[in-house]
Amino acid sequence: MKESCEIVIVGSGFAGSLLARVLAVLGYDVVLLERGTHPRFAIGESSTPLANLSLERLGLRYGLEDCYQLATHGRWLEHFPELRRGLKRGFTYYRHHPNQAFENRGFDSERLLVAASPHDSLSDTHWLRADVDQHFVRQAVGAGVDYRDRVEVTSATFAPDSALLKGARAGIPFELRANFVIDASGPGGFLARELSIPSGLRRTETRAALVFSHFDGMRLMKEVVPGMPEGPYADDWAAVHHIIDEGWMYSLRFDDGVTSAGFLISPRGLSSLALPNRADAATVWQTLLERYPTLATIFADSTPLMPIAFRPLIQHRLTRVT
Ligand SMILES: Cc1cc2nc3c(=O)[nH]c(=O)nc-3n(C[C@H](O)[C@H](O)[C@H](O)COP(=O)(O)OP(=O)(O)OC[C@H]3O[C@@H](n4cnc5c(N)ncnc54)[C@H](O)[C@@H]3O)c2cc1C
Repeated sequence: MKESCEIVIVGSGFAGSLLARVLAVLGYDVVLLERGTHPRFAIGESSTPLANLSLERLGLRYGLEDCYQLATHGRWLEHFPELRRGLKRGFTYYRHHPNQAFENRGFDSERLLVAASPHDSLSDTHWLRADVDQHFVRQAVGAGVDYRDRVEVTSATFAPDSALLKGARAGIPFELRANFVIDASGPGGFLARELSIPSGLRRTETRAALVFSHFDGMRLMKEVVPGMPEGPYADDWAAVHHIIDEGWMYSLRFDDGVTSAGFLISPRGLSSLALPNRADAATVWQTLLERYPTLATIFADSTPLMPIAFRPLIQHRLTRVT
């Protein structure tokens, strides 16, 4: 590993790797450090029209052809069929009530479809982050970024014109001096920790726990509640939101049928579940499904592709930016 560079970026989610690549294209000497390895699971999978316009603009401005291709479902399928993704035509909402099946009442159903794109080929996408993030890292390396994974940065010391990062890579200590440090560690909060920036979460009213996984074999709402009036797109090819008393569930279907789903649960919702002390993630999941019969039917024959996980609080916020 080299001992100095112009710019070091900590964290290789798509934010870190896209920025590293843009800077390399502009001629900077960039090191990209990652604590884990790719491919890896990541949450945050559903692109939006504005996110895709940004991606398209990055592609055009810096000559990153793949970013341009990945900005719509049609171009993505044509140019990168091996990167897994899902068709996302819009935002679908259903309101569920405890112990009642979702009722098809025609246009009076508690159902809302918000179209985000006019047809499939121009549509937004759900990103299978394991594939997409790995792709962006590989492209960054191709553009000349010096990428290192399995890196643990243990300290950062700042002088007026440079910073010294110390840590270990696969257990071997290293020191790296850089003129500029960029924190792309997401909720990892690397620089906030180094600079002792306090949390600002008490200024945020939203609080949610999350229970989630990827599932195979889920049924479509259309199959479970047949005969609903046609909307501007097929209900399930969207970011589907199931609103419940305790919070809401997201359901993002990839083109191969695998679906990313998770319940966001308010503190009040969580206590209303009356769970036993130290309930595991699967119990929280099952308790919620049992309250909502239509959701239970959708998941009846499904299999989680990784253990169902639970995070007691997913919001994060800092008191200042640096
Ligand atoms: C429940 C939920 C749903 C979401 N849904 C959406 C959605 O539908 N659409 C959307 O656009 N966004 C969504 N988001 C937000 C989305 O997840 C994030 O905006 C996105 O992942 C940020 O990407 P990033 O590259 O900044 O960080 P990340 O993807 O978090 O990547 C950070 C990287 O830094 C590495 N790292 C961390 N600490 C260190 C360290 N000390 N040293 C080295 N490496 C380190 C990590 O291993 C990781 O690879 C959602 C978030 C949550 C929690």
